[in-house]
Amino acid sequence: MTSQASTIGSVTSASAPRAEGRIEKAPLESYVAPAKPSLIGVPRAELAQALAAIGVPPSPAKMRMQQLWRWLYVRGARSFDQMSNVSKELRARLEQHFTLARPQVVAEQVSADGTRKWLLRLPGDHPRERPHEIECVYIPEADRGTLCLSSQVGCTLACSFCHTGTQRLVRNLTAGEIVGQIMVARDALKDWPDQSRDAGDPASGGRRVSNIVMMGMGEPLYNLDAVRDALLVAADGDGLGISKRRITVSTSGVAPNIARVGAEIGVMLAVSLHAVRDDLRDGLVPLNRKYPIKDLLDACRAYPGLSNARRITFEYVMLKGVNDSLADARALVQLLKGIPAKINLIPFNPWPGTAYECSDWAQIERFSEVIFNAGYAAPVRTPRGRDIFGACGQLKSESEKLSARERIALRAMATTD
Ligand code: SAH
Ligand code: SF4
Repeated sequence: MTSQASTIGSVTSASAPRAEGRIEKAPLESYVAPAKPSLIGVPRAELAQALAAIGVPPSPAKMRMQQLWRWLYVRGARSFDQMSNVSKELRARLEQHFTLARPQVVAEQVSADGTRKWLLRLPGDHPRERPHEIECVYIPEADRGTLCLSSQVGCTLACSFCHTGTQRLVRNLTAGEIVGQIMVARDALKDWPDQSRDAGDPASGGRRVSNIVMMGMGEPLYNLDAVRDALLVAADGDGLGISKRRITVSTSGVAPNIARVGAEIGVMLAVSLHAVRDDLRDGLVPLNRKYPIKDLLDACRAYPGLSNARRITFEYVMLKGVNDSLADARALVQLLKGIPAKINLIPFNPWPGTAYECSDWAQIERFSEVIFNAGYAAPVRTPRGRDIFGACGQLKSESEKLSARERIALRAMATTD
């Protein structure tokens, strides 16, 4: 299949000239890592400790924290100066110790279909190391605006059809770096109350960013503490206020951690299944060798709060001649019996050097029909932002750090521990 959106709507960058078809990047030398920690994404309890540590006495600290939280996440403040109901003295103290910095936006690309992708730069692990890069994608639709967040720089898991899995550098993002992606998107979309009252769909509280999916770079369940902290900040009703029903965590199948997603975050779950037999899934999702389909589905059955109104989404990438036969479709339906499920068929998004092809459209429709006739919703995910490499599995930044040996060791740990 070819791209459905073949022309670039616009390509912009703070410091780079306009370009066609490629992300323009600022020179790496221009990046200066922040000297002070940012308060963005710091969980409430830690924020209270941070205030105490700079001498805000315990009794007003609670009220101060509430004020600060609202400035950060309801108003989208970029500087302490804006915080008009916070004393000058405290603003100065905050300024002395902290920032409200988000990840640095290196470039923004806008697809012809309105999808936006930001290339973001984050500090390396030590001062002289090259900065790291991640991507974050915004997908506007008629009734919602979905932000696709990354959880790691790269990914250790190397699924054979995924571009992100070919990236060498891997590190976990902090909660601040995950929440920072939401802040960047809201800044760029002018999605704060003073800027865009009623800009989005009223059903989503008038906000452009109404939904979040952890479906960017990385395996969220291998960075679960940070993902949990970040998503609890995103869902906080006094702040960003994104309902847990509108937040989805996608996993390639880290079965033992699935229960924690339910217990500690309570958001919607998506599982990247992609195959109905272990021999085939072993080749597509190498993690399957560690947690085979049965273990994965047992963990899904135990996911708390499942009902017809609250289903698990099973993602299934359509690969021509690999997993797209009608026998596969029938086996899929059998396999998921008893689990409240939606099946999301994803047309394969090609990337340079891949050996896979997307299934023919007619075959995707036939596959979908088998599933639909068995009583499951089987929406086909419309490819979005393919022209800017923003579609599922196409994300790959260019920062790389680990040697090939280290990467292989990491992957081995991830798949055999
Ligand atoms: N690591 C997590 C979340 C990120 S990937 C996971 O694998 O679930 C988000 C989704 O995109 C997953 O379902 C993944 O299997 C799918 N995907 C990866 N590469 C793809 C490609 N080239 N085309 C279509 N979907 C792809
Ligand atoms: Fe990692 Fe998900 Fe890509 Fe697999 S599909 S390599 S788990 S990002």
